Amino acid sequence: MKYLLAFDQGSTSSRCILFRKSEPIATYSMPHEQIYPMNGWVEHNPVEIYNNQIKCATEVMSLAKVKTNDISAIGITNQRETVVVWEKFSGKPICNAIVWQCRRTADYCDKLKAEGFESVIRDKTGLPIDSYFSATKLKWILDTIPGARERAKNGELLFGTIDTWLIWNMTKGKTFATDYTNASRTMMYNIHTLEWDRELLELFDIPEIMLPKVYPSCHMYGETDFLGSPIPIAGVAGDQQSAMFGQLCFNMGDTKNTYGTGAFLLMNTGRVACRSKIGLITTIACGTNGFVNYALEGSVFTSGSLVQWLRDDLKMIPTAAASERVAEKVPDSGGIYLVPAFVGLGAPYWDPYARGTIVGITRSIKREHIVRAALEAIALQSNDVIKQMQSESNIKISTLRVDGGASANNLLMQMQADISNVRVDRPACIETTAMGASYLAGLTIGYYKSPAELSDKFEPERTFRPAVTPEWREKLINGWHKAVTRARDWETDDNIHQKGF
Ligand code: ADP
Repeated sequence: MKYLLAFDQGSTSSRCILFRKSEPIATYSMPHEQIYPMNGWVEHNPVEIYNNQIKCATEVMSLAKVKTNDISAIGITNQRETVVVWEKFSGKPICNAIVWQCRRTADYCDKLKAEGFESVIRDKTGLPIDSYFSATKLKWILDTIPGARERAKNGELLFGTIDTWLIWNMTKGKTFATDYTNASRTMMYNIHTLEWDRELLELFDIPEIMLPKVYPSCHMYGETDFLGSPIPIAGVAGDQQSAMFGQLCFNMGDTKNTYGTGAFLLMNTGRVACRSKIGLITTIACGTNGFVNYALEGSVFTSGSLVQWLRDDLKMIPTAAASERVAEKVPDSGGIYLVPAFVGLGAPYWDPYARGTIVGITRSIKREHIVRAALEAIALQSNDVIKQMQSESNIKISTLRVDGGASANNLLMQMQADISNVRVDRPACIETTAMGASYLAGLTIGYYKSPAELSDKFEPERTFRPAVTPEWREKLINGWHKAVTRARDWETDDNIHQKGF
């Protein structure tokens, strides 16, 4: 029996999972250093990331006692938007990777907005102007590292997101490439023409010669022999798009939600790039047969991390999983709402000035009510994004596929079904990000015959169906929106940069 090897290069750790068909056989992961040179700046060491990723692969092979010849292909999924610049001849990065969370270019982004570039950039890239995306980080490197722009113009320097960096190293510099999903997060890639956008490259003064070739997510990217004999690298996608593919969201309207630290919702809008009016991002999703699909994406900043806060800071629960048991001790949240706007509010509000609040407290409120209100808040925030997606795409979401750490919480999943009036399907394996990369690679090499072969096998481990009245739902959601209004526009510190969405 042959295997697929998935590389899952995340923001805090690198992982490797060995799959036999869609069954994970062995996993190995290693954390990497988070470098914070200044307030709001975040960096990674690209060499450490590459070495860790390779070590994870060799460890997973020895754990599973599998021979290199039994690996049919490698699929790669990665943290998106993070920027690496390295020397073409030595392979050495010229500085640390600038990570997606890094806000060092926020002032420049504000300037771009003030100069009226918002609309043109959103039209071409599907993205709002924000320091989160790659373009302004790359510009910062070219502006700041002495001689970098000249060297880039001479073809001496290469730019890549993490996938490109890994592939280039794994193929010993033979393949310099990325995929559509990663390119669509750079803010310099035209998601309609599927080309690096000349006008934007000029605006950011980025030489095209330093940019990788862009291919579909299902593609033969090259071969790597770091495990001894050659293995094809046959699938690449950014982490959220890979999770969406791993959830088998192949068709228009298919939607997934990942409940991790934050929540990431993506809806497949098929061949149509749906332009969001407020709050959502238009992005490229994985396609098959050389086509691209588009997706609407919305992110909520604080989701599972709210449970972490209850556990670690308020000490209200001993473990994250205990939130379910504690919240179940009360039939409802006693009329209170917790708005977890710890770092402002993400989609669909985009209010960096919002701050967390609990409203409606009376003397009868107990710990259990607060824990329950926290779980409701996680579902209510995702519901706001779901509603926005439905209204902007004119597509009704009937089923939500879920993954991420907090999706293990049955009460939370039932709340989501009740509040959003959707069916919630939780797959047996919630390693959907790595699974997506393995599916992409498997489809390229014929390990899987077609996406239909994968869809046929989908069986949720558990399904949650709405079980409340429309009146109950409306009352809860109306109260929530009232509470959100109370949380908004709270912080008035001028130093807070508008997130700009
Ligand atoms: P990330 O990949 O963003 O680090 P994970 O997908 O590993 O996140 O999910 C971890 C988050 O999920 C944590 O914030 C944790 O508090 C939350 N979490 C984990 N298990 C549960 C649970 N049973 N109920 C609620 N929240 C949970």
